[in-house]
Amino acid sequence: EQTNKSSTSTHLDDVFLSVKTTHKYHEARLRIVVDTWFRLAPHQTYFFTDKDDQELIKKTGGHMVNTHCSDGHGRQDLCCKMSAEFDSFLKSSKKWFCHFDDDNYVNVPQLVKFLSQKSWKKDYYFGKPSIPHPLEIKIAANTRPVKFNFATGGAGFCISRALANRMSPYVSDMRLVTLCGKIILPDDVTIGYIIENKCQVNLTRINEFHSHLEPLRNINPRTLRDQLTFSYGLSDPRPNIVPVPEPVLPNDPTRFMTIHCILYPESEVCKKT
Ligand code: UDP
Ligand code: MN
Repeated sequence: EQTNKSSTSTHLDDVFLSVKTTHKYHEARLRIVVDTWFRLAPHQTYFFTDKDDQELIKKTGGHMVNTHCSDGHGRQDLCCKMSAEFDSFLKSSKKWFCHFDDDNYVNVPQLVKFLSQKSWKKDYYFGKPSIPHPLEIKIAANTRPVKFNFATGGAGFCISRALANRMSPYVSDMRLVTLCGKIILPDDVTIGYIIENKCQVNLTRINEFHSHLEPLRNINPRTLRDQLTFSYGLSDPRPNIVPVPEPVLPNDPTRFMTIHCILYPESEVCKKT
């Protein structure tokens, strides 16, 4: 039985770590995720994809969800996956919903430590905006523009159970897909719209979430341990990657293996290399 203290505090098992992916990236992107940070939360992490993949089902202990969404990069396809992620969380008994892209590294113990300082019974929306000012847009003709912040999906974001329950009428049972279609915005932007406009809760900016929309070279390598997420962009004119201290491990273009082995040298995968 839970004690009074543990009912408001957060442990790893209270967090739902949700990763959006596609069969096209099962090999190119998920392999490094499954080999590194997934091992720190194998029972709490779920991959939302668009095709079954027996090898990955095995490697993730069955934590693959085939959303049956289309496998494109289009707005509706990605909204469909976010919708499936959110619905799975709502149906779970977890206290925090944290979304990530498949090009994110999640510093799991630090994330749990961060969330444990906040109450899931309060309304929280944690993440990092990718634009300096709130978005100001007209949702429909003959309406006044609305102004809101949103957390970039590619940096990862977390929503408390209390807030998620309040979002439910706008999001649950794939209603997010309808809304994305109506206001013609990407999934992460639509989530921001629901939270800031419909639920009247503000995004709390957390600098320790990182997407490849920011220059990752600005991260101080001595602060890796304090960061919550990382990402990479390999196809930019120049690769946009986290500056890790030397030596960089071999065959590690994303730097995720090097980061993982600096933070968690006792990991099995680090002993072999
Ligand atoms: N994605 C997807 N289907 C696609 C392309 C991308 O589900 O056809 C997912 C991908 O796995 C990732 C997210 O959408 O989790 C963002 O994709 P990506 O990093 O390629 O694009 P970005 O928006 O970061 O430029
Ligand atoms: Mn990306």
